[in-house]
Amino acid sequence: MRATVINAPYDIQVEEVPDAAVRKPTDVVLRVLRACICGSDLWPYRGEVATAPRPGQRIGHEFLGVVEEAGSEVTGFRPGDLAVAPFMYSDGLCDFCREGVQTSCVHGGGWGGFDHDGGQGEAVRVPYADGTLVKLPKDAASDDRVLAALLTLSDVMGTGHHAAVGAEVRAGGTVAVVGDGAVGLCGVLAAKRLGAEQIVILGRHTERTDIARSFGATHVVAQRGDEAVEAVRELTKGHGAHSVIEAVGTEQSMTTAVRITRPGGSIGYVGAPHGSGDGIDLRHLFDRNIALRGGLAPVRQYLPELLADVLSGAIDPSPVFDATLGLDRVADGYRAMNDRTALKVLLAL
Ligand SMILES: [Zn+2]
Repeated sequence: MRATVINAPYDIQVEEVPDAAVRKPTDVVLRVLRACICGSDLWPYRGEVATAPRPGQRIGHEFLGVVEEAGSEVTGFRPGDLAVAPFMYSDGLCDFCREGVQTSCVHGGGWGGFDHDGGQGEAVRVPYADGTLVKLPKDAASDDRVLAALLTLSDVMGTGHHAAVGAEVRAGGTVAVVGDGAVGLCGVLAAKRLGAEQIVILGRHTERTDIARSFGATHVVAQRGDEAVEAVRELTKGHGAHSVIEAVGTEQSMTTAVRITRPGGSIGYVGAPHGSGDGIDLRHLFDRNIALRGGLAPVRQYLPELLADVLSGAIDPSPVFDATLGLDRVADGYRAMNDRTALKVLLAL
């Protein structure tokens, strides 16, 4: 089969790799229908990772598809079922899975690398299929927009929702979102879904902030640094937001998030930390009773409730995709996202 490999920084290729196959009785093989490129895929692409990519390294962790083969112990899926995969697999049985932290599953792990198929390929062996996958209605496969919306449940929409949960977004509250990437935009949609009244997005790219407005943002702050902090305070009676979603991960974005949170408020952070965190002013948080909560999103936990809202039409995260390419052009997709000429690239197989 053919799949995307990252042989070295900036070297993305589609190559022949061994066919995905059932190896354990709890596996299924999923034939990929849709996949996409994540902002976090750009870290190895740019070489911004502790271990540089090596030849043959597989990549991609957001995908959905059709079950082609199911192992003998798989009870929830049969060939022909349409299913979406979260960005990590998990057994669904251990203490952490039962407590809703599937990203800490004792048997769990990530896609791609050398031991697993990557999502940006023709097929994927899915370990612990019953714990990992979520079934989708088969008729969704015939609707491109619905497939795109469902694919966001693999990562970005679930991650945006996790940030909103961490930020304790509540009905009638004020929310500020730091970051206008796909996750930040999904954070806006998640905040709106949870009933936030005022939603401020910090971002300078109008094509992105326009999506944010369509997702429910009531205000756009295009300034940066101190000016952005002032602008958010002005919009919130000088107090800051009840809930702040941090969807970037740099020290600067975290500092901004801390400074625009009002006393008693909460920060939900899902931008993977790029720095040590030494720049976070704990005294500032302490004096103002500001909570900091977030991390690697257990999207598997949120998938059923978000899926219901996508299927009912209550939310439609599909506008985060602004380009669709075939697998053959995956390298163009990486280039476009790296150059910021595309927000998020969908791969249609
Ligand atoms: Zn588990």
